[in-house]
Amino acid sequence: MSFPKQNKPRLALAALIAASVVLGMALSWTALGRQFDNYAYDFLFRALQPDPWDATSIILAIDEPTLAKYGGNAGLRGALAAGLERIAPAKPAAVAIDVVLAENGLRDADARLETAFAATPNLVLPAYILRDGTWENPIPRFAAHAAAIGQVHASLDKFDSVSREAPLMKAGGRIRRWSLALEAFHVRVGGTILESPEELVVGSVHIPSTLKDAFVDGRMLRIRYPPVKMGGIPQISVAELDANPALAAKFSGKTVFVGVTAQASGDNRITPYSNTEPVPGIEINASEYETIARRMFLVDARWLAAAAVSLVLASLVGLAFALTSGTRPDWIANAAAVAVLAASQAVPAVAFTRSTVWPWLPGTLSVVFAIASSAFWRQMVVRRALNQADAEKTRYQRAMQFVTHEMRTPLTAIQGSSELISRYGAMPEAKRKQMAEMINAESKRLARMIETFLSVERLSAGQMDMKQERFPLADVVEACVARARAYAERKSIEIEVEPIPSCELQGDRELMEYAIYNLLTNAVKYSPERTRVTVLSEDGRGDRVHVASLVRLTIQDQGIGMDKKEVRRVFEKFYRTKSAEQSGELGTGIGLSIVEQIVTQHGGTIQVESEPGKGSRFTLVLKRA
Ligand code: ADP
Repeated sequence: MSFPKQNKPRLALAALIAASVVLGMALSWTALGRQFDNYAYDFLFRALQPDPWDATSIILAIDEPTLAKYGGNAGLRGALAAGLERIAPAKPAAVAIDVVLAENGLRDADARLETAFAATPNLVLPAYILRDGTWENPIPRFAAHAAAIGQVHASLDKFDSVSREAPLMKAGGRIRRWSLALEAFHVRVGGTILESPEELVVGSVHIPSTLKDAFVDGRMLRIRYPPVKMGGIPQISVAELDANPALAAKFSGKTVFVGVTAQASGDNRITPYSNTEPVPGIEINASEYETIARRMFLVDARWLAAAAVSLVLASLVGLAFALTSGTRPDWIANAAAVAVLAASQAVPAVAFTRSTVWPWLPGTLSVVFAIASSAFWRQMVVRRALNQADAEKTRYQRAMQFVTHEMRTPLTAIQGSSELISRYGAMPEAKRKQMAEMINAESKRLARMIETFLSVERLSAGQMDMKQERFPLADVVEACVARARAYAERKSIEIEVEPIPSCELQGDRELMEYAIYNLLTNAVKYSPERTRVTVLSEDGRGDRVHVASLVRLTIQDQGIGMDKKEVRRVFEKFYRTKSAEQSGELGTGIGLSIVEQIVTQHGGTIQVESEPGKGSRFTLVLKRA
């Protein structure tokens, strides 16, 4: 029975790699995992900033000096009206307002603001959803002048409150509203907003944004904040305009976002850039607008793609370890592992430059786990190889002890006899002849022992020349049985031979005889007295697939048998089972390893079935000539 011993550790490694990827993916789905991925995103966001561009939007800011001048929050509408009046002559393309307009204010201020709204084309006013799920809209006198109403909800990360994306749509009750920025873009380019499950289309711009839940926050958009070098979206405050009315020219043809930037207003958010300094909400609206207008969309990679790439990377690690284990120095696998780890870091960065948000954690974790488990695997394999070598060494030493012990007996006999012959010249002829015959027989036995020992080594080294001749199987079996019968008699064991099909084998007859004789003597050796050994043969018809070109030869005994674990090891050099050792029968544990070599060299296989205490069946499956 030949076991593919090489494959078992490799399979274990493959399983470890697969487990690494599964664990990597699973951990990256946890809340903590997502957090890590967010930090990686922020890192790439800062590291790979786009080149500055000319913004098509501008912020009309109600800042601290403006509030101071117009009387704080009470004067907000006055400031707003003043700002709109100042920029109107410059003809902005659209104006989006993020100031609460949901209730009536002072009569004069509201009247002035309404007039200013009426004079503003492409006006977008804000709305937001209250806690009870209803919309808080601008009062009708203002709403009447709006080209569109846009929602001004933010989307802050659940865990760290960083504003990475914006909801393009919000639903309250059964009413859905697009975001203020999207509406500002929409009223500017005209037409309608077309929806599909995967994207929104405004004019010629396709915004990739999946519809997740039509009645919550259906569609998210990752905001591309302007690079730090750009210094944010341009801003001019109402107070500045009052002081320098010529600044109004800067609003010409722009989409204007009007909102409170005074820090005390509390409308500030953290962005991936501003870890310490919050950005006013109105600037985030304008950034969302720039993302759409410049089509700088960041799309999330598909989960399956991330899983596939993680698997490829982890497999590369496993492959490096599998290919170098045992034969090459460890540093090659280690270097390969570092290279794969670097590659796993490069993937998200390269993807980011191609506007794809690639999750960092799954690949990184998969590779790290793969490296750890591969290193562990290597340790185990090396240790096992060492253990095996150790075991083989002790078995070899024991066999050597046995052989030297065995050799001593014939040597003593030869020595004694030859001494007697030389000392007593006047020895009777008959006695002299008997001694000479004994010397001859014992030296032949010695030669055979040495021959057997050497043939194992030569066979396994492939140095043994194998003859190529045709010979009948039945002849070989007959010769072996005849020799083995003499050996079996001492234990009163009967060897029964069933009819052998008349077929020829091709190869080395002497070696084949050695193999079959060995199986026969083992069967006798490891059986109690007065049992039976049976030799039977059949052609390939016994196989599940009919193979007429094969012939099977089975040697069956009623002996001590072996358990499954022992069966697996009997072809190892110098291996003997415990029960064989205890049986008192002498042996080296190399016979079967030679038998296996011979059979495989003849293109055949050997199978063992055995049960402790019941007996064993050794079957040779041989090729017909
Ligand atoms: P040896 O017989 O010299 O020990 P082998 O290589 O021929 O060496 O056999 C290896 C081992 O396989 C034996 O020591 C014995 O434990 C087991 N074995 C071989 N043949 C049989 C058999 N017919 N029944 C039970 N055990 C066997």
